[in-house]
Amino acid sequence: MDLSYPADTEPFRAEIRQWLVDNLPDGWGTPGFSMAKDEKKAFNQEWTKKLFDGGWICASWPKEYGGKGLSLMESVVLNEEFARAEAPLRADFFGDTLVGPTILQWASEEQKQQFIPGILNGTIAWCQGFSEPDAGSDLASLKTRAELDGDEWVINGQKVWTTQAQYADYIFLLARTDPDAPKHAGISYLLVPMRQDGIEVRPIEQVDGSGEFNEVFFTNARCPKENVVGGVNNGWKVAMTTLGFERGSSATTGHRRFLRELEQIIATAQKNGRSSDPLIRQRLATAWTKVKIMEINGYRSLTDALNGTHHMAALGACNKMFWSETHRATMELALDVLGMEAQILTGSGANDGSITRVHRGRADYPVSDLQGSFFFSRSETIWGGTAEIQRNIIGERALGLPKEPKPQKV
Ligand SMILES: Cc1cc2nc3c(=O)[nH]c(=O)nc-3n(C[C@H](O)[C@H](O)[C@H](O)COP(=O)(O)OP(=O)(O)OC[C@H]3O[C@@H](n4cnc5c(N)ncnc54)[C@H](O)[C@@H]3O)c2cc1C
Repeated sequence: MDLSYPADTEPFRAEIRQWLVDNLPDGWGTPGFSMAKDEKKAFNQEWTKKLFDGGWICASWPKEYGGKGLSLMESVVLNEEFARAEAPLRADFFGDTLVGPTILQWASEEQKQQFIPGILNGTIAWCQGFSEPDAGSDLASLKTRAELDGDEWVINGQKVWTTQAQYADYIFLLARTDPDAPKHAGISYLLVPMRQDGIEVRPIEQVDGSGEFNEVFFTNARCPKENVVGGVNNGWKVAMTTLGFERGSSATTGHRRFLRELEQIIATAQKNGRSSDPLIRQRLATAWTKVKIMEINGYRSLTDALNGTHHMAALGACNKMFWSETHRATMELALDVLGMEAQILTGSGANDGSITRVHRGRADYPVSDLQGSFFFSRSETIWGGTAEIQRNIIGERALGLPKEPKPQKV
C-alpha cells in the first residue's frame, strides 16, 4: 500500500480548499463558532445552491449528466477536503449514492433524462424498497408483485424498514414480475411515484423516539410501464449493483466521524475523571486503535479500486462488519464513561436545523448526541447487510471456505 498521493492531485486539492474558504461562513470550524437557528436555515438553503453551482454534487458523474467527470482520485480528494473542513457535501444517500449511480449504469437514455436532473438538484427525494417482512438477508424471497395492466405496472405487497419513505417522492422498488421463474429471476427494479392513493406509509417509532423508517403498503399502486430499470425480470442484477454502491462508498473519509465521536468520549472521560480508571483507559485505547484500522482499511479499499484488483466485495464486507461492530462496542463504552449520567436525557430535543449533524430523539425524549448514537449503533450491524451475512461473504470470497449449506427442506 502506497500512502502518498499522485502529485497531479495537489492543484485540485488547492482549488477545493480555496473554494471552501471563499464559500463557508467566516470562522467556520474554529472553536466557539456557532449559528442561530435562522442562520442555520439560511445556510442550509444557500449551501445546497452553492454546491450545485460549484458542480460539487455528484461530481464524479459524467459531464453530460451534470457531473464534473472527476477521476476516482479526484473524488477522494474532494471528499477529504470537505471532511477536513467539516463542510456538508450534500448527500441524499438514496438519490446521490444508490439510485443515481444505478440509473447511470443501467437505465435508458430517456430514464436518465427524466430522473438524473432531479437527483442532482435535490428536487426528487428517494427511498429504497427492497426489504419485506420475510425477505431481508434472503432478499430474493420477496413477494411484492407487479403485473402489467396496459401501459402501467400494478403493484401489490408490503415493504418494511423503508427509511425516509414519509418524505420520498419516489421509491426504487424490487417486485416479482414473473412468479413462475426461479427465485432470483423474475424480479424487476421499478421507479414508483410515492404520492398516490395505492401507497400507505406507516412510520415505525424507534426506542429513542426517532421515526425515520416505515412500513410501506402497496394496494394497486401504479407506475408507468417504462419505469423498469435494466429490463423486465433483470432486477436482481440491477439491485446487486445498488447494494455494491451502498457498501463501498466510505474509502478514506469514512473513519472520520468515528474519530470525532471518540474524541468527544475521551474528553468526557477526562472531564468526569473516568479516564483514570485503568479498564476504561484500556478500552479507550482499543477504540482508538480500531478507528486507525478503519482508516487503513479505507486506504486498502482505495488501493484495490485504483489497481483494478476487484476484491471489493470481500473488502467491503470486512469493512462493513468491522466498523459496525467497532462502533457498537465504542458506544457501549461511551455509556460506561458517562456512568449514571447516561440515564439522564441531556439533549436539546428540538431539531436545531443543522445539516452537519444527524438529529435523533424528539422534544419529549431529548437524547444527547452520544445517547442517540448509542441507540443508532444497535442498528448498524443490521442495515446494509447484517454482520453475520458479511461473515458469510468473507468466508466464501476472501477465505475460500465452502459455500454456506442451503437449509434442508423437511
Ligand atoms: C436502520 C435500518 C434502516 C434500514 N433501511 C432500509 C431501507 O431504507 N430499505 C430497505 O429495503 N431495507 C432497509 N433496512 C432493512 C435491512 O436491509 C434488513 O434489516 C437487513 O437486510 C436484515 O434483514 P432482516 O431484518 O429481515 O433480518 P433477517 O434476514 O431475518 O435476519 C435475522 C437474523 O438472522 C441472521 N441471518 C439471516 N440469514 C443468515 C445466514 N444465511 N447466515 C447467518 N445468519 C443469518 C441475521 O444476521 C440476523 O441476525 C433497514 C434496516 C435498518 C436496521
